[in-house]
Amino acid sequence: MKIQEIFGNMVFNDSVMREKLPKDVYRALKKTMSQGTHLELNIANTVAGAMKDWATEKGATHFSHWFQPMTGVTAEKHDSFIAPTGDGRVITEFSGKALVRGEPDASSFPSGGLRATFEARGYTVWDTTSYAFIKDGTLFIPTAFCSYCGEALDKKTPLLRSMEAIDKQAMRVLKLFGNTTATRVISQVGPEQEYFLIDKSVYLKRPDLICTGRTLFGARPPKGQEMDDHYFGRLKPRVSAFMKELDEELWKLGVCAKTKHNEVAPAQHELAPIFSTANIATDHNQLTMEVMKTVADRHSLACLLHEKPFAGVNGSGKHNNWSITAETLSGTSTNLLEPGKTPHENAQFLLFLVAVIKAVDEYQDLLRLSAASAGNDHRLGANEAPPAIISMFLGEELTEILQALESGADYKDKAREQMEIGATVLPHFPRDTTDRNRTSPFAFTGNKFEFRMLGSAFSISGPNIVLNTIVAESLRQFADVLEGAADFKQALATLIKKTFKEHKRIVFNGNNYAEEWVCEAKKRGLSNLKTTVDALPEFITKKSIELFTRHNVFAETEVLSRYEIMMENYCKTIHIEALTMVDIVKGEIFSASVDYQNALAKLLLKKRELSEYDATMEEQLLNSISKLSACLIKRLGKLETAILESGEDRNILEQATFYRDKVFTAMSELRLIVDELETLIAKKYTTLPTYADMLYSV
Ligand code: ADP
Ligand code: MG
Repeated sequence: MKIQEIFGNMVFNDSVMREKLPKDVYRALKKTMSQGTHLELNIANTVAGAMKDWATEKGATHFSHWFQPMTGVTAEKHDSFIAPTGDGRVITEFSGKALVRGEPDASSFPSGGLRATFEARGYTVWDTTSYAFIKDGTLFIPTAFCSYCGEALDKKTPLLRSMEAIDKQAMRVLKLFGNTTATRVISQVGPEQEYFLIDKSVYLKRPDLICTGRTLFGARPPKGQEMDDHYFGRLKPRVSAFMKELDEELWKLGVCAKTKHNEVAPAQHELAPIFSTANIATDHNQLTMEVMKTVADRHSLACLLHEKPFAGVNGSGKHNNWSITAETLSGTSTNLLEPGKTPHENAQFLLFLVAVIKAVDEYQDLLRLSAASAGNDHRLGANEAPPAIISMFLGEELTEILQALESGADYKDKAREQMEIGATVLPHFPRDTTDRNRTSPFAFTGNKFEFRMLGSAFSISGPNIVLNTIVAESLRQFADVLEGAADFKQALATLIKKTFKEHKRIVFNGNNYAEEWVCEAKKRGLSNLKTTVDALPEFITKKSIELFTRHNVFAETEVLSRYEIMMENYCKTIHIEALTMVDIVKGEIFSASVDYQNALAKLLLKKRELSEYDATMEEQLLNSISKLSACLIKRLGKLETAILESGEDRNILEQATFYRDKVFTAMSELRLIVDELETLIAKKYTTLPTYADMLYSV
């Protein structure tokens, strides 16, 4: 197998388009792709025909609009290419209209109230900026999904809008620096994806994993991650075979899978692609998660994408590496977060840098909530992930430069001259001087920012919508000031200084996991939104709605509906977990406890009859298990009551608060007892695999 031969061979990409489309059609389509111009129906018809011929040659029989509703997973509806000829035969057919627009019924997707006021019909619209691809005999067309009245019902539409917002504002800033060649500014993303792999047979014996994606019970195994022997460890043959096939499947789909390695927890691994535009990175990350599950299945493995499948060992996240690049007509692109080597570039870099600092400080709550979910609540604030407090790591060197600028003092370094914006050469930042802090939730890593709070199961769309929009807002304000300035250089220097001074509280280069940081952050006035329920209300504040509507990323109704959907999702997740717990206790734990107690009691009686044997063990065990079992039934009752009461009438915030404080608390209390019972009851009385069975199953 040659990589070059399989890479992208299932993608209707640029080289295929060039080969299969008439020149004028190709040119028209490229124009639509890069400038978002309207696509004429005759052009769409030709493109659709070429796509169909290409796809059927490769064995495809169906096409499907592929979209990303608010469920967080992708949706598809397959239609075959067949058209009857009237004489009992069929021909294949695919029209431009079918390519460009679909009309799936929107009524069974989450709409957060948008559906109540508008028609049930939804539209899928071809996103020409993301290539069509073939998977399992179907031609998939990436699409945006919206309601009859044009409200976004998906995760792609607002992402595209946020990319437009940052493009517009960043271009204004570039013009001020005299840049006449840039045609657009694009946000680029490289998401590192963590996951667990366990044997399928143990997975199938855990109803909690099947129904909720995480273990709801399980005593700690004798060995966890304390030996640090898994991170970057040798790949076991089964894992290696899985990863090899995963890479190949992803390459066929045009996903640039690049890096793979073992992660910190036993059975935990990571895959990182080469970065691409925020839109394509999001599509590809959705595909990656899906293909991971499919390929795992073929290898008799189960791929767990939940943020915290196992208590007591690391959970899984996603590192969202983000930068912005300026493109020119000739096809070159420049990373605007590259510190640069000439004074001119330096000043521009510093302005973009403080734009991000200002954005992260002013909208820390939005960033926090973009990483909020019931699953991720188990990670954030726990000891292995960034805490729930947003702060930024810049590294010592960059921080000192900004501090020197702010105070007006000279930035002195052996080799360097006095620091004046635009007049001296900034030191070049080698990656390794900026990437040492692994505890920061938002770190500058040489020429990009790494947002590390995301949960592993997330669509990366939400966090990138927020990032693009908040930075667009900083840049908008900067452009407003600088466009009106009499002396650009002077105004620029003042602006950089002032911005850093006002927002430097968000910069923290120390250990984010330390206790002291929580106090220090509080003193600095940074927020610490510990749970999803604390974070989500920040989405519907006046400040948030003003931001999103100003940049046309969300209409107010869209913000409100998304808030409802996210809150509902939180409640439903905990509800399902609670019901699953009840089921497992009644179906497994009770009977294991009864059977073992029965055996112990029988033996105890016999020993007492015979009187010559020591019965201490039976007595003590029976005593402990029966006491714990009494507690078990009480705590189960408490959980069942909480589940019942969750049905009472409340508004969505009260409802989510109830789930967090009452239902989830009752679940945690119940778990403690079950986990302790597990350590006492002989293994043969239950069919549930233990943590050791699962974590060391491959
Ligand atoms: P780490 O040390 O965190 O593993 P890597 O160098 O492996 O860092 O990069 C992680 C991810 O960052 C990869 O997906 C990579 O493609 C992406 N990345 C690199 N440069 C950029 C950039 N300029 N913008 C966005 N993502 C980038
Ligand atoms: Mg990383």
